[in-house]
Formats: sequence, C-alpha cells, structure tokens
Amino acid sequence: MKLALFDCDGTLVDSQDVIVTAMTRAFDRAGRPVPPRSAILSIVGLSLVEAMRRLGDDDPAFPAEALAELYRGAFHELRAESAVLEPLFPGMRATLDLLKAREDVVLGIATGKSQRGVAAVLRHHGLEGRFMTIQTADDAPSKPHPAMVLQAMAAVGVEPADTVLIGDTSFDMTMARAAGARALGVTWGYHARDLLMASGAERLVDHAADLLPAMDGLWGTRR
Ligand SMILES: [Mg+2]
Repeated sequence: MKLALFDCDGTLVDSQDVIVTAMTRAFDRAGRPVPPRSAILSIVGLSLVEAMRRLGDDDPAFPAEALAELYRGAFHELRAESAVLEPLFPGMRATLDLLKAREDVVLGIATGKSQRGVAAVLRHHGLEGRFMTIQTADDAPSKPHPAMVLQAMAAVGVEPADTVLIGDTSFDMTMARAAGARALGVTWGYHARDLLMASGAERLVDHAADLLPAMDGLWGTRR
C-alpha cells in the first residue's frame, strides 16, 4: 500500500484570501499594524500560534496567543459570511478522483489547520471520507516537526519509502524528509520554487494533472 499525504492550504485549496482577511481583522482588533500580504503568506502552513510568533519576529513580548484567538474568531465569522472561502485549486478534484480509483493508494492530510477547519473544507467540497488519516495542529507539533507524517504512516500502516508528502511550503518538505518520506513540492501555493528545492523537495509539479505521474515516479524509486 502507498500513502499520498496532502497538505491543505496552498496545496488542495487556495485559502490565501480568507487567511489574509482574517489576519487583517485580527491585527486591526489588537491595534497592531497588519503585516504585509507576502509576510502573511510566508507563514501559511505553520500551526496558528507558531505562525503568529514568526509574524512577531519571535519577540517574547509579542501577544501571539491573543492574536491567534482573534484570528480564530475572524476566520469563524468569515466562514459564516461567505459560501466559498477556500476553493479547490484547478484540476485538484480530477486528481483526487483518479486517486480514489486507485486500490494501491490511501490518502491522508497533514495540515496546520485544526480538525474543525479541515472538516469544514472537506464538507464544503464533498470530500468527506476520502482521507483515511487527518493529522492537524490539534494532534501534533507544528510543521516542520515530523510528527504529523510519522503519525499518519503509523495510522495507515505504510512505510516511509511508500509515503509521498505533497505540499507547497518549505515546512512541508522539511517535515517529509525528517520523517523519511518522499517530498513532492507543488508550485501553485505560497512558497517559491527555489525555497522548496532548498528545503528538500525531490520533485516539483506546476499543474495538478502532473501530480499522479510524479507520485508514481517517487513511489517506484529509491531516493
Ligand atoms: Mg500549505
């Protein structure tokens, strides 16, 4: 059996607009200057408090926990206000359907989102039940710690060499390699190609249609 372990934000769904809007509301409500869009997108994928710490330049006096709470509130409001906050990236549904038909592959998710956040995304897109293991910030340390990948592999009983982590950030690539899994970078998300390669990506794909052939290439070979 093989495991395709997907990151969520920036890989399966395009969450940049809702994340930037929620961050803007959180910082406004805290009376603090809103970080630039590029800075916000650079931390997508980390667990929320860790992301806030980075936005505060790891200053111990920075109110990361309070901002994380304001962010959760703002995100919840936005979900109530709008129907399609986080669209699937082009071609992703077709790729997930092809994977569903593969009897030799199980799917999983490893994300900085909460279980509640992932469930809302999957429900919205009619993808409940597709992913056999869902690892989140609720159950593991923030990426790039390898725990989410290790827990996912243990949950479905798949070896590291048969596991491909598909993600859009350096955090994903570092996490995958630290867990001994294969690292496949996607270029439609929030980190640049050279950063993905520098952090351990074994291959990069530019279109969802190229994902399955790239996965098959990594599964069939030794590093
Ligand atoms: Mg991501």
